[in-house]
Amino acid sequence: MKTIPYGHQWIDKNDIDKVAEVLESDWITQGPKVEEFESALCKYTGVKYAVAVSSGTAALHVACLAAGIKQGDEVVTSPITFVASANCVLYCGGIPIFADIREDTVNIDSKEIKKKINRNTKAIIPVHFAGHPCDLQEIKQIAEKYNLLVIEDASHALGAEYRNNKIGSCKYSNMTVFSFHPVKSITTGEGGAVLTNSEDLYKKLLIFRNHGIKREKTELIKKNEGPWYYEMQGLGFNYRLTDFQCALGISQLKKLEKFLKKRREIINIYNEELSNISNIILPVEKPYVRSSWHIYYIRLKDPDRRKNIFERLRKFNIRVQVHYIPVHLQPYYSNNLNYKAGDYPMAEKYYESTITLPLYPKMLDSEVRYVIDILKKELK
Ligand SMILES: *Cc1c(COP(=O)(O)O)cnc(C)c1O
Repeated sequence: MKTIPYGHQWIDKNDIDKVAEVLESDWITQGPKVEEFESALCKYTGVKYAVAVSSGTAALHVACLAAGIKQGDEVVTSPITFVASANCVLYCGGIPIFADIREDTVNIDSKEIKKKINRNTKAIIPVHFAGHPCDLQEIKQIAEKYNLLVIEDASHALGAEYRNNKIGSCKYSNMTVFSFHPVKSITTGEGGAVLTNSEDLYKKLLIFRNHGIKREKTELIKKNEGPWYYEMQGLGFNYRLTDFQCALGISQLKKLEKFLKKRREIINIYNEELSNISNIILPVEKPYVRSSWHIYYIRLKDPDRRKNIFERLRKFNIRVQVHYIPVHLQPYYSNNLNYKAGDYPMAEKYYESTITLPLYPKMLDSEVRYVIDILKKELK
């Protein structure tokens, strides 16, 4: 059996043609495809505004900047996430504060968020782990009570739904961030986006994406300057996404429902075949959500066996993974922010037991069966 990765993109001839068309046009960056992709994201999620940027990490960064996160501000997020969900706060001079997870969904626990709020708290970044939406209703209530902004890290969750609302609609948040890295729901190579219903935040996001430069010429020309005039109003970045990447994004978004359906077919097989194995715990999907099933993780009841089983699966060319090492245990965080083992017991307990199995739309039935067979043997 050839190597089975844990995640993989699906790019077909039609995607390639769409990218090639742009490469042969006059605009390979900052052209019409950027707005077309942004409009397509708005239409799919039901949100008002979308800003495409060069990565999910850039999206988190500009979202924190637009939210006004600055020196000394605290932002609460989950320890079970990719480091970028917390790093974006550090980029702005803020302090990432973790709140422990719920055991069932592995998402941030609203009760734990409440315990972390003080007068320096400015925002919450809930992460929809594995594509399963967080308790957004509860999180929104907390945010309203304490006057906080909510930035959803939906890098795993394009296509997911919470109480019949698409993730990205921002019904329960101020902004939602997506990533289009190849292992995510759809890909643009590298890429990301921030979605919002606020015109004010939208304008700020555009400015931070483009060096802090204001584009609205008519308003600026009033200052007695000529048509060449532009103004740098803040310290922004070059976080633009190219036109040919946006063309890929538009083409990929049209296939999203197909991708999601494939993922669900595979997890249904995993669930059915693995449900009667007594020494593992399977991931859940609450009745009020539709998960986008970014990853499929199992938990071993005996964490002492995790390393061995992980290594055995790798020996059989199954590229299992671990999502994630709790962020507070990363040396940068423990050295600079004084976090230590024991600070987030639920997150640490989850981490010690988890293994991510391969899951991607292009995964063949034979590959799914192969993973199940080997896993069953090794779990005996
Ligand atoms: C992938 C990911 C990111 C970062 O996205 P990039 O596009 O790789 O920069 C941020 N948060 C989470 C939870 C992710 O999975």
